[in-house]
Amino acid sequence: MRQKNDAARDLWAQMFERAAADVNATMHEPDEEGEAAQRELTIQALREAGWSEAQIERRSDADRLHGELETANSPGVGPGLEYRLKHLSEPVRMAISKTGDISHEKIEIAIDPVAGVSASLTNVIMTDEGILSVSSFLFRWCGLVARAYTRTLYADIAHWTSPASSPKDDRRLLLKDPALIRYWFQIFVSFSGTGTHVLVPFRPSSPTEFHLFEQVAWAMEYFTIAHEFGHHVLSHRSVDENPKTQEFQADAFAAKVCEQLEFEPFPLLSNPYTRTGAGASLMLLALEILRAFESPDGNDAAVAETHPTARDRIAKISARNLMQPKQLKMDQEFNGTVLRIMSAVASVMREARDAGGNGRFKDQGAASTSRNGDESH
Ligand SMILES: [Zn+2]
Repeated sequence: MRQKNDAARDLWAQMFERAAADVNATMHEPDEEGEAAQRELTIQALREAGWSEAQIERRSDADRLHGELETANSPGVGPGLEYRLKHLSEPVRMAISKTGDISHEKIEIAIDPVAGVSASLTNVIMTDEGILSVSSFLFRWCGLVARAYTRTLYADIAHWTSPASSPKDDRRLLLKDPALIRYWFQIFVSFSGTGTHVLVPFRPSSPTEFHLFEQVAWAMEYFTIAHEFGHHVLSHRSVDENPKTQEFQADAFAAKVCEQLEFEPFPLLSNPYTRTGAGASLMLLALEILRAFESPDGNDAAVAETHPTARDRIAKISARNLMQPKQLKMDQEFNGTVLRIMSAVASVMREARDAGGNGRFKDQGAASTSRNGDESH
């Protein structure tokens, strides 16, 4: 499906040109030698993660979506980013169309050439067209958080899914695994300091982790995109309206869309993270920890005024199927596990940050860069 929204495309072309010319723009410069070396490193890392040669070959054939678009709205940002966004948008558009609403056809998709984790919807003034854009590093962020989450869950799945333990037990369990804590910490330090994954070592999922990891990552991405589509479909154009109400409405819309994406990305494997909204919860809670790293004094009052807290949003997402007891129970179990894991992670991260680990990591090379556009809705 190719949208033909000339006003939106024109506006985006102007916005993109300006953003791409910025010194901090995340434009991709092709470098064949560097990319070949990178491929070698990837294969090496996969071997170390326990993949056989045959599995590696199959995996690189079917690797997480590669491809080029004939006409891209954001040329030259990162290889395959707009293609991936388009690929993720199609099932979301299909799920929306099923309800008889085709207003999503007025939306163009694009990649913001900026660092950080963000997704936004730009309305084109005087028209009913809009532009849904995500930052260049959004997918990387989802991938890393999904991987760290999968590893944390698999470290003791019985513990994390048993209702009998306390936050203290959760913390104690997490503290037993310094390598895992370090991985989480590197993700938050890297994204808060540079807006990219540059400080996080590449540790691919093992064959055991692979399916869950993919399901979690896709669920986070689908929710983020469906939420922005929601703002458009629900005609959230007026700034006068209560932004908190609009956030809840867009969440509810996205959660309904995600329920329909239960068999993504694997057609034969039900994905509880899209089905229950747990992918949404993970995204929201991970972003909340990231914001704490970005403003260590906890001075986030401005955001709190306009946006509901992650916990309020998750409470609504996990209680949305009140009339279907079986589904409600499943929703609460999966969202509950995410909440427990991420509460333990948040607590341990806060401590690590206070202990000054933050400074130590920053000294290892990343110059801090000024960032813009990391508004996440
Ligand atoms: Zn929003």
